[in-house]
Amino acid sequence: MGQSNPFKKLYLYVICIAVLLAVKDENFLIDVSPVIDYVPTNEKVVALTFDDGPLNSTTPEILNILKEKNVKATFFVVGERAKKFPALIEQEVKDGHEIGNHTYSHPWLTTLKENRITEEIEKTEDALFEIAPKPSLFRPPGGKYNKRTLALARSKGYSIILWSIDTEDWRSPPVGKVVDSVMRNIKPGSIILLHDGKYPSPTIESLTFIIDNLKSRGYQFVTVSELLQYYEDQ
Ligand SMILES: [Zn+2]
Repeated sequence: MGQSNPFKKLYLYVICIAVLLAVKDENFLIDVSPVIDYVPTNEKVVALTFDDGPLNSTTPEILNILKEKNVKATFFVVGERAKKFPALIEQEVKDGHEIGNHTYSHPWLTTLKENRITEEIEKTEDALFEIAPKPSLFRPPGGKYNKRTLALARSKGYSIILWSIDTEDWRSPPVGKVVDSVMRNIKPGSIILLHDGKYPSPTIESLTFIIDNLKSRGYQFVTVSELLQYYEDQ
């Protein structure tokens, strides 16, 4: 007759408690670190964000327009491209724009193990080292994330930023469609998703219209970190 092993029971008990604590802890991290897709505010401030650059063919033209219009934006850069085009990152910083981390090689993070996610984040930090301030904003590629991604990015001091207006400019729709998608959905605190990581793209031509139309409606452009300062409990 087998005798029940009291240590085995205790062992199982400890494992159960550990699992419960781990789950609770992960949820807790999500509670204190929500994913931000827009900022509730009554002020007419919005943020333009550009993903997947820098790229020699697209980014300089976008920077020229932003400079000419005196608009500050946020660039969620891909580390391997930052490494390839460091001068463009330096120009972005010099012009007063904010740089966010968009991983090193743009994978879907939900498919990766923890050590690979860490690598994607840290290699981008290394690529930006000495050419830009250490980023505090993280945007997962494709907006795809899970609890593991959030907890990890949060533990590295990042706020996780998505968007409230998706122009789908990367699909190369007509310029009018990109502009319309912004003008139809704009409201105080909007975060607008555009891309400077593709060429040719309708983004460059759309940008002037988007800026002029929003300015005429009384909107001001700020970086994402500045936008977060406008957060109001509503
Ligand atoms: Zn992207």
